[in-house]
Amino acid sequence: MEIACLDLEGVLVPEIWIAFAEATGIESLKATTRDIPDYDVLMRQRLRILDDHGLKLSDIQAVIATLKPLEGAPEFVDWLRERFQVVILSDTFYEFSQPLMRQLGFPTLLCHRLITGDNDRVVDYQLRQKDPKRQSVLAFKSLYYRVIAAGDSYNDTTMLSEAHAGILFHAPDNVIREFPQFPAVHSFEDLKQEFLKASNRTLAP
Ligand SMILES: [Mg+2]
Repeated sequence: MEIACLDLEGVLVPEIWIAFAEATGIESLKATTRDIPDYDVLMRQRLRILDDHGLKLSDIQAVIATLKPLEGAPEFVDWLRERFQVVILSDTFYEFSQPLMRQLGFPTLLCHRLITGDNDRVVDYQLRQKDPKRQSVLAFKSLYYRVIAAGDSYNDTTMLSEAHAGILFHAPDNVIREFPQFPAVHSFEDLKQEFLKASNRTLAP
């Protein structure tokens, strides 16, 4: 049995924080795991910036409600789900993901949770666990699944390494250079080919 693990932001949907930075004009909110590999450092910085500008969860949700999946992403997810069990492993938050997951047909999503305080202020966040993407792959392996994973960024690389096959998709040059062991592709057509190649079954293209 095979399971396909996909990153969400940068692979199927736009980077949510970048979209929010663009909508608000706050340049410093554009940093992502591509720039700051330590997720805790990155998230603490984001929460500080939200506070400095008096921004609330509903402000972010209003921007997310206007976002669409990347072109071809819903069709790719449909294609993949006919051939694999599909799980999205993301460092986003359930409070953000709903409008985008609806457009992807609500595949299974394992991610984190935001903690809000008075007046809808984002006060903290709760990671499901440490190194969650790799831990999820380990768990699927303990259930005797063969895991094929795809992601675009630093926070995906332990998942890609732990999987039986890892694929870089839409990755920036620095990530591709640092992780030459993974095939790197940039279109959904090529990503399909990589999943077909990585599978130990004979699948319809
Ligand atoms: Mg990503």
